[in-house]
Amino acid sequence: MKVAFLNLKANYLELQQELDAAYRRVMESGWYVLGQEVEAFETEFAAYCGTRYCIGVGNGLEALHLILRAMDIGPGDEVIVPANTYIATWLAVSYAGATPVPVEPDEKTYNIKPEQIEVAITPKTKAILAVHLYGQPANMDPINEIAKRYQLKVIEDAAQAHGARYKGQRVGGLGEAAGFSFYPGKNLGALGDGGAVTTNDCNLANQIRLLRNYGSRVKYFNEIKGYNSRLDELQAAFLRVKLAKLDEWNARRVQVANQYLQQLSGVTDLTLPFIPTWADPVWHLFVVRCPKRSDLEKHLKDSAIDTLIHYPVPPHLSDAYIEKQHLSSFPITEQIAQDVLSLPIGPHMANEEVMRVIEVLQQEGGTADCTKVGLLTGKQMVTS
Ligand SMILES: *Cc1c(COP(=O)(O)O)cnc(C)c1O
Repeated sequence: MKVAFLNLKANYLELQQELDAAYRRVMESGWYVLGQEVEAFETEFAAYCGTRYCIGVGNGLEALHLILRAMDIGPGDEVIVPANTYIATWLAVSYAGATPVPVEPDEKTYNIKPEQIEVAITPKTKAILAVHLYGQPANMDPINEIAKRYQLKVIEDAAQAHGARYKGQRVGGLGEAAGFSFYPGKNLGALGDGGAVTTNDCNLANQIRLLRNYGSRVKYFNEIKGYNSRLDELQAAFLRVKLAKLDEWNARRVQVANQYLQQLSGVTDLTLPFIPTWADPVWHLFVVRCPKRSDLEKHLKDSAIDTLIHYPVPPHLSDAYIEKQHLSSFPITEQIAQDVLSLPIGPHMANEEVMRVIEVLQQEGGTADCTKVGLLTGKQMVTS
């Protein structure tokens, strides 16, 4: 049996009638950019996240970039970012002309470690950009506490965490503003590119509305030098259909994750995800660690199971940030990049597929130590 990493076609087929109807509705409306569908989606997504405002934009990178611009963060400013993240988090800071200042993650959650933030703060620091990596919320209370003490803004990169909760509260409203991506493979995915900003700050929301549309509130009257970064009507109409399914699809991801957590706890040398008691993750990815990752990857591949690595090169070691290579090293981040492997997970994963992944990982005499069943090794670190 072949197990795909994520089945986007099944995702479409489940909602085919509604999505096709949404397509026809927009096509026949004759209105394709910034209209009723975008407005309706913004209202619905703000309600879902429990925030006052939502502003649809072109993609997740732009959502973060426009937040920084709206906060007047630019050249000469520093923004604290996780060393361990997708490069888009850093690029948003660079786009704004500011400098990303990386901070090591917590070794268990892979998210930014609040205790490490304070030493990275300088007089130039303006904001902390926290990422809810792999769908698991970052530890926001201590982050907000530090930000308050140093008068910094807190921004969430929620691109992988639509619907995740921190101490019962949905991500998106845990800082001053949050950026979401609706790239097709995200938990809430469009059928193309899309993104959004959520916030409770009325002025910030207004500023982002200006920035996304050429700095103009009234057509052809331009108040500031803005951008073109708009969510289009078609994607908004699709997202409205999919938003209604998000909780159900996230719940299925939780089921799959729980099966993995229960059944893989005895596999030698396999480190499973850790869930703090205050986190309700939405499992954008199910990431395991193994000291012999390439053997494990090959063993799964030989059994027709797709895996991916999130991410093989941390931003500070990528060619794009060659200027950062003189920085002190980030050993925890670098080790994570060596060890991590993402197993298939998604709302349309069949039970047999989940069982097949588990079976292959449990097979004794596999090519990696990780695939040999051992005694319960205590590697399973779920506490909740
Ligand atoms: C996907 C992603 C982004 C960027 O979103 P795009 O819509 O692809 O621009 C930003 N940050 C993280 C953590 C992501 O996973």
